[in-house]
Amino acid sequence: MNAVIRTEGLVKRFGHVTALDRLDLEVTQGETHGFLGPNGAGKSTTIRVLLGMLRSDEGRAELFGGDPWKDAAELHKRLAYVPGDVALWPGLTGGETIDLLGRLRGGIDKAKRDELLERFDLDPRKKGRSYSKGNRQKVALVAAFAADVDLLLLDEPTSGLDPLMGAVFNECVKEASALGRTVLLSSHIMSEVEALCERVSIIRKGVIVETGTLAEMRHFSRSRVRATLKNPVRGLEDHEGVHDLKVDGLEVECSVDTAALDDVLAQLAVAGVAGLTCEPPSLEEIFLRFYGDELAASGVPNGEENGS
Ligand code: ADP
Ligand code: MG
Repeated sequence: MNAVIRTEGLVKRFGHVTALDRLDLEVTQGETHGFLGPNGAGKSTTIRVLLGMLRSDEGRAELFGGDPWKDAAELHKRLAYVPGDVALWPGLTGGETIDLLGRLRGGIDKAKRDELLERFDLDPRKKGRSYSKGNRQKVALVAAFAADVDLLLLDEPTSGLDPLMGAVFNECVKEASALGRTVLLSSHIMSEVEALCERVSIIRKGVIVETGTLAEMRHFSRSRVRATLKNPVRGLEDHEGVHDLKVDGLEVECSVDTAALDDVLAQLAVAGVAGLTCEPPSLEEIFLRFYGDELAASGVPNGEENGS
């Protein structure tokens, strides 16, 4: 497999804060890779190192086999970057900014640009200083998706966009992927990552704690099974793959390890099934396995979607 991004043992400290603590990340050519973690986990620091905007203290980072720090000028022709808080040249219009960014990146598809302006419902004639936060994001997104590049580095790019525009964003990522572009999408929004990414790396306190396809991650997780039975079921409470079992008459509800699913379904079938639902674990549940304690301690409610 061809790695577009590879970091090995990456360390970045800010004074006493260790933002990256031997981070290993690998993104393969052509994939859309989710980079998931709450605020402060180290997502932006990683991306800034990859952009050559920060120098790491230890370890290695490679972009297209090059060094993001030394080869920045060459590498930036092949990538587009969208941060979560886009700053624009105050005196340039959105359109001028998009074209300028396009030239820096070695080319822009003008027809694509015009199509994207329409889809994102962005007026390119306003000056940078007069755009709202959401419109500044749109300027950067149009510039990124219209650029003829191999890699998109998107760092919480949809912050400030309304849900309708979030849907346009999702389509654009899929189109970029269909063109063979590699995408690194950092996010703390599960649904976005779940909808777009083949592989996901979960970052916690500057370390990757889990990486793999969603299917692989689900394999190590539990499905939620709810059944209405015809007769009482016996023996489920003794099964080591069954958790949080609740039996209320003929209603049964439990979490089941993927490996135990066939056993459990067989036992339910013996009792006779009048109704059954089985939900695979969501990315959110997988994520909470790594973060549940921390989020509980910080008082952040589950499914929090704000912040930057
Ligand atoms: P994320 O993007 O996942 O929210 P960041 O990479 O922005 O996380 O931050 C990781 C850690 O590094 C945080 O503790 C943050 O406060 C710290 N940090 C990031 N940038 C700086 C900086 N320029 N100066 C000092 N500390 C920083
Ligand atoms: Mg960040």
